[in-house]
Amino acid sequence: MTETEMNTDVLVVGGGTAGFGAAVAAGRKGLRVVLVEATSKVGGVMAFCPGMPWGGGYPVDRIIGGLLEELTQRLERMDPPAAEKRTCTLENFGPEIIYDHDIATLTMFEMLEEAGVELRLNATALAPEMSGNRIAAVRCVNRNGPFTVRPRIVIDCSGDGDISAKSGVPYTLGDEQGSMMGVTISFHMVGVDWDRAFAEPDPYFTKYAAQGVAEDRLHPDLAQLYLMKGFHKGTVFCNSVHVRGVNGIDPDAVARATQEGRRRCHQLAQFLRAEVPGFEQAHMAMLSPTVGVRETRKLEGVYRVTGEDLARGSRFFDGIVCCDNPVDDVMRGSGEMTHDAAVGAGTYYTIPFRSLMPATVENLMFCGRIISADAVAFASVRGMPQCMTMGQAAGTAARLAIDNDAAIQDLDLTALVADLSQQGVHGLGNTSLN
Ligand SMILES: Cc1cc2nc3c(=O)[nH]c(=O)nc-3n(C[C@H](O)[C@H](O)[C@H](O)COP(=O)(O)OP(=O)(O)OC[C@H]3O[C@@H](n4cnc5c(N)ncnc54)[C@H](O)[C@@H]3O)c2cc1C
Repeated sequence: MTETEMNTDVLVVGGGTAGFGAAVAAGRKGLRVVLVEATSKVGGVMAFCPGMPWGGGYPVDRIIGGLLEELTQRLERMDPPAAEKRTCTLENFGPEIIYDHDIATLTMFEMLEEAGVELRLNATALAPEMSGNRIAAVRCVNRNGPFTVRPRIVIDCSGDGDISAKSGVPYTLGDEQGSMMGVTISFHMVGVDWDRAFAEPDPYFTKYAAQGVAEDRLHPDLAQLYLMKGFHKGTVFCNSVHVRGVNGIDPDAVARATQEGRRRCHQLAQFLRAEVPGFEQAHMAMLSPTVGVRETRKLEGVYRVTGEDLARGSRFFDGIVCCDNPVDDVMRGSGEMTHDAAVGAGTYYTIPFRSLMPATVENLMFCGRIISADAVAFASVRGMPQCMTMGQAAGTAARLAIDNDAAIQDLDLTALVADLSQQGVHGLGNTSLN
């Protein structure tokens, strides 16, 4: 082995919420874990859109458990608390968790350190080297040049699935028409008088938005302004500026959308100050470093979760996390923002582990927003709490695969589910959340 080659049990590609879950879970199982993250932070979309609430953590108002619950509790128990549960102001969404972005990120770094994860930031996984149906190595690069990781198991948590796609996993882009959800750039307004700003119940500030669009001061896609209270008093999180038709796996397109988004955010901040009561003394802060990309590749797994599965409230024998998120569609093609209920009131579905495994590559799993799902199911399964728990499941499965010298496709999934339940993931197997 040269200095630019390393052996490891598990290579996690991407340090978003899914990669965080995968790396911590595998590290806690005593495995050597290398986590390669292309940017300088963990969190993925959570880092790109700082302050975005963790939605979907409470199907039927019960926490899903696992690492999400542990992380939330660590933050809630700080003095002063750095996270809290609150009601979401949008219809069909359950309660959400709002947190201090910097403290949450720091705590995630600490949990990775405690789990013994070798974190390679500012490093990109480029391509797999295949040996039959296995990934023998993954070529990576950082500013010092190329390096190669030789893992026993690869967990692709990159959101876009570059390594899975290059290892031969079939995929489609976006929905059946190939159209992907809009990307979004967020910011905060700081110094807002909450009482006046939120005096009216409309979460979309529709009448102000209509005025701004009619007067050509806001982009037409800003007909709904989604403004919500931030974690700290007097802050408002603006998750409103969407850019359509961006191919999230084309870095140049993402960079162009980010610059366009910055312009629209600035216009919106100026408009809020000028027109909306409570914002007169506020200023823009925490503008996203890049747009948050919702949807790119959809990988083909052993099982593909569908909208019908959700509507039936399916609870699979290999379900690894519960969910009741609505079908949260954001400006696909010429479409609008919709969040229709995915399941009947008071019920939920589970995400099967088989949607995290490819049919043929024996030492690969994929989790987070790249799991195998149709366009409807995708719009629901993609919440950060669910992504984190999918990662937790994959990290746990890596231990099982190594212990049994087994292909991922041959794992005892009942044992996996039992292990996750022991780790405090709720509502799996024969148990129920309610
Ligand atoms: C604008 C927006 C708003 C949203 N709102 C909410 C919300 O309010 N609540 C909620 O719960 N969910 C929300 N979601 C959904 C949720 O944020 C995402 O589905 C979730 O964060 C996806 O997590 P992930 O870990 O799968 O992927 P990502 O968060 O995309 O993370 C992937 C990581 O992999 C890294 N990476 C990619 N390729 C490579 C490579 N080749 N080598 C190394 N690293 C690589 C990236 O840099 C990134 O850090 C929103 C999403 C967006 C985009």
